[in-house]
Amino acid sequence: MASTPYKRCIFLLVDGARADVVQQMMEAGELPSLKRHLLDLGSFRTAVTVFPSTTGPAHAPFLTGCTPGTCNIPGIRWFDRRQPHGWTHYHQSRSYVGPGSLYVDVDLDPGIRTIFEYFDRPAGIFSFLNRGLGISENRTLLSKSWYWFYAHYTGHWQAVDDAVWGYIRNAVTRGSDFVFAVLPAVDEYSHHTHPFSEVTFDSYRAIDRAFGQLTEELHRQDMLEDTLFVLSSDHGHSTTHTHFELWEYLNACGLKTLYYPKIMRNGCTAASMISGNGMAHVYLKKGDGWHGLPHWQEIREGQYGGTDLVEALLRMEAVDIVAARDKDNGVVVASSSGTAEIRQQSDMILYQPIDGDPFGYPPVVPCATADELLEVTFDSEYPDAPYQLLRLFDSPRAGDLVISARPGYDLRMLHEYPEHKSSHGSLHREHMHVPLLTNEEIARPYVRTTDVFPSMLEWMGKLPLDPVDGQSFVSPLQAEGVNA
Ligand SMILES: [Zn+2]
Repeated sequence: MASTPYKRCIFLLVDGARADVVQQMMEAGELPSLKRHLLDLGSFRTAVTVFPSTTGPAHAPFLTGCTPGTCNIPGIRWFDRRQPHGWTHYHQSRSYVGPGSLYVDVDLDPGIRTIFEYFDRPAGIFSFLNRGLGISENRTLLSKSWYWFYAHYTGHWQAVDDAVWGYIRNAVTRGSDFVFAVLPAVDEYSHHTHPFSEVTFDSYRAIDRAFGQLTEELHRQDMLEDTLFVLSSDHGHSTTHTHFELWEYLNACGLKTLYYPKIMRNGCTAASMISGNGMAHVYLKKGDGWHGLPHWQEIREGQYGGTDLVEALLRMEAVDIVAARDKDNGVVVASSSGTAEIRQQSDMILYQPIDGDPFGYPPVVPCATADELLEVTFDSEYPDAPYQLLRLFDSPRAGDLVISARPGYDLRMLHEYPEHKSSHGSLHREHMHVPLLTNEEIARPYVRTTDVFPSMLEWMGKLPLDPVDGQSFVSPLQAEGVNA
């Protein structure tokens, strides 16, 4: 093992934290402990998360170094076209919300090693993925459901965050060398109010206070200097003014749609699986079964529902982006601004607008490495979108149509309680930009959340044992470029 000054790493996932809010609150002196112990000693970056930018799948890059597509966990809900019949409805229509979360570790691609498997005494606190944690190391195995149930019905999500800090202290006391902790309050208060409400800001301030107390305790025990801290988020948030009922519209387009929670319906010809609620996988029944993978050209020819579904969806104000598999590999993506093809050719990504540009990018090199593409699209409305779509469609579990909602809209109305007044999940910058703070030096200006995993390992004196999508930002990129 390489030498490292660190004896432990504490990773804090502030679910739903916006990069701009963290930056502005730090500049305003409202997050003094995070500034003092992270920013002043190390780095702050706005990073790009993964698509779908949703709780759960967007936690995976920190734990695996891989996108949800590579992990084969393409959404917080997805449809398993391999098991369309019988008593398997809950397995067929995955939802990692509630008891369905037990499937996550089984669904994760078996070839992927989690970060827990690299450490001797890891600890997971409200973690989405738990592979590699023993029963005693998954500190919230038994209590998570109770906390979520309590907070869901009382609205008191701050109590869950408060409990997290107790679990962290306990893990450190027991000698944990890697602690992964999820703080849900910012996300939940954003959903129930909006991302810039006072109650949401209060939950950021509470994190800063608790972090300050933790650092004081570590200092007293002479453990502060050898602790690596990393804080990040899985997605941003944007205010939602209109709910668009996607399944209802698909039915109006001539389909019979299965959706959550109505997953017991028989004779369906489509399935709509929403994440975030700003993103959806739509699965289309091809002929008599679900095994075929309808491609862009077939869908546009009206073979499903008797209409051009892409055109029909893009007529809706709520629908911003529609993407599907191309018949010759690759992905086709469209918005009201145009259509483009995206392909992977060895280490290069080809992005070729056909008519207009669906993402309205500044002139983009048609053939670029993943890193070049990240840099040139970083400040656009759709950072990293071509790369993210390619990786998502790598998953055989991805939908036949992938829909990204326009900011201000989401794709689910009837069965969401309490009503979501803010959403995420989409390809838009407001959802894709996240904060990244650490007491170490980040050597690159443009980073993805997939890069955090190999970087944390390197700082802790370890190297990934398998190829991952991300690449360490501990050192600058090599001149010739390296691809994810
Ligand atoms: Zn989240």
